[in-house]
Amino acid sequence: MISELGAERRQEAEAARRQLEQLRSEQQQLQQQQAATTAQQQRQQQQQRQLQIQQGLMQMQQSLMQFNQSTQGYQRNNSNTYPTPTSTTTSQPATRTTCTNCNGKGYTDGTVPTFGLGNPEWCDKCKKDMPAGHYHKSCTVCNGKGYW
Ligand SMILES: [Zn+2]
Ligand SMILES: [Zn+2]
Repeated sequence: MISELGAERRQEAEAARRQLEQLRSEQQQLQQQQAATTAQQQRQQQQQRQLQIQQGLMQMQQSLMQFNQSTQGYQRNNSNTYPTPTSTTTSQPATRTTCTNCNGKGYTDGTVPTFGLGNPEWCDKCKKDMPAGHYHKSCTVCNGKGYW
């Protein structure tokens, strides 16, 4: 009795094991198929990206050609009348004096005391990290113009 039961159980176990193996192989196949489809999708995406890049390149080439044409035209058209623009810019700066208060920047910088609190912050005007509390204000001597 006991041995028969044991044999039955072994058969059941064997059947279950085979089923499991079958399921596993099916799962593997599915995974492989999925991998194949994702690879295909990736290829399609890459192809689309390549197309986009090619189109972008073509557009850039076209605009470059247009730019070259326009600059050539510009150079050709203006070669005869070139000396004229200089006269307009030279009239004013002779009377200008650079503001000594702001050194011609039009603003002065100051610092609010933070007593060591706060982190250094990037200042666009100074082009570097400045201590917390650093600020700029319009120059009161030249009214922010940088010259008198
Ligand atoms: Zn000033
Ligand atoms: Zn600054």
